[in-house]
Amino acid sequence: MGRVQVVGGGVIGLSCAWELSRNGHAVTLVAPAPGCEGASWVAAGMLAPVTEAQFGESALTALLLEGARRWPAFAAALEKAAGHPIGYDTTGTLTVGLNASDRASLDDLLAYQHSLGLRAERRSASECRALVPALSPALRGGIEVPGDHHVDNRALLRALVRACVAAGVTLVEGTVATLEPGPGLVLADGRRLVADHVVLAAGTGLPAIAGLEHAGLPALRPVKGHVLRLGPPGPPDRLRARTVPLLTRTVRGLVRGRSVYLVPRRDGSMVIGATVEERGIDVAVQAGAVHELLCDARELVPGVDELELVEAAAGLRPATPDNTPRIGWTGLDGVVAAVGHYRNGILLAPLTAAAVVDLVGRRPVAPLIEALAPA
Ligand SMILES: Cc1cc2nc3c(=O)[nH]c(=O)nc-3n(C[C@H](O)[C@H](O)[C@H](O)COP(=O)(O)OP(=O)(O)OC[C@H]3O[C@@H](n4cnc5c(N)ncnc54)[C@H](O)[C@@H]3O)c2cc1C
Repeated sequence: MGRVQVVGGGVIGLSCAWELSRNGHAVTLVAPAPGCEGASWVAAGMLAPVTEAQFGESALTALLLEGARRWPAFAAALEKAAGHPIGYDTTGTLTVGLNASDRASLDDLLAYQHSLGLRAERRSASECRALVPALSPALRGGIEVPGDHHVDNRALLRALVRACVAAGVTLVEGTVATLEPGPGLVLADGRRLVADHVVLAAGTGLPAIAGLEHAGLPALRPVKGHVLRLGPPGPPDRLRARTVPLLTRTVRGLVRGRSVYLVPRRDGSMVIGATVEERGIDVAVQAGAVHELLCDARELVPGVDELELVEAAAGLRPATPDNTPRIGWTGLDGVVAAVGHYRNGILLAPLTAAAVVDLVGRRPVAPLIEALAPA
């Protein structure tokens, strides 16, 4: 057991801090605004090992499946520790295609999913509408994926902050400027912190920290994503509580070859996303991206037109050159990395935190995790 400093207050840093503290370590977490910033705040909260499976990334899919397996126990323990719900929902996901060409692409995708042994079923257009009555009659069919779930990522972050505080984690608001041998941290305002171990979980902020030259970490690139948050129409009080939600399961879709998803929340609101843009550090919200997401979403679910546009935001996914996270000891004494979770950091948070606890405790990790070691 020892003193551990966690750098980063997104889903990865907070999950690691909570689990480390629950396992007897004295934990300090440093971030500018823990629990309400970074990609984790912007994200949609899908827990989607199957619908995120991409051609040529079968090793990553195995990791995502293991990540999903950890979620039921993690959600239950976190809700208990924090004393408030996190909107963890296991209803499942439906992926739909707008036109014949989208339908054909989905058939190719389904064949790939089946080649990996993933659970996914072809559904006709009418079967899709029976599952999700709000879908457009124009759709050409889809794929039902019962094992892809979702969580309310903002409720999750709030719960993690509460659970961290309850478990004794010290939250320090600040920006780490330098990692020193020892290891120790120097903050931008000159404060110094020393520890036995440091866990790097700073997302796309990592490259700006000095002292990492010999860490053996790959270059991280920010991948921009726009998302929209929509609420039910009407005043935000009793009327809203009575509104029947437009969706009760996640809908993903192809609209003339373009991907879009709609992720419902229990209060009738929803998250629509997301663009995938390689433009460096840039979180400006662009009108064209907002327009595109809204157009595509309403082609799949016309009732989107009636919802209130509450927020348009952009976030930066932290990505490595092979889109696979790095979790493990770095080349620096006492320094563990938990970075590069790209499109699946919410899904992988429980698995990552459990691995970091094993690493810091000097216990062996599963081969799946060993393969992610940076050094
Ligand atoms: C549009 C969009 C949609 C997404 N949807 C999903 C989804 O549906 N499901 C899913 O699993 N994943 C999704 N993701 C990906 C997911 O959000 C990320 O993989 C995940 O949030 C990464 O978590 P993180 O804690 O590593 O990084 P972040 O959430 O970015 O947090 C990094 C933290 O480090 C802090 N930090 C940075 N620099 C410093 C420093 N120098 N000193 C101290 N602190 C520092 C930041 O302030 C922040 O607190 C989405 C991402 C985006 C952008």
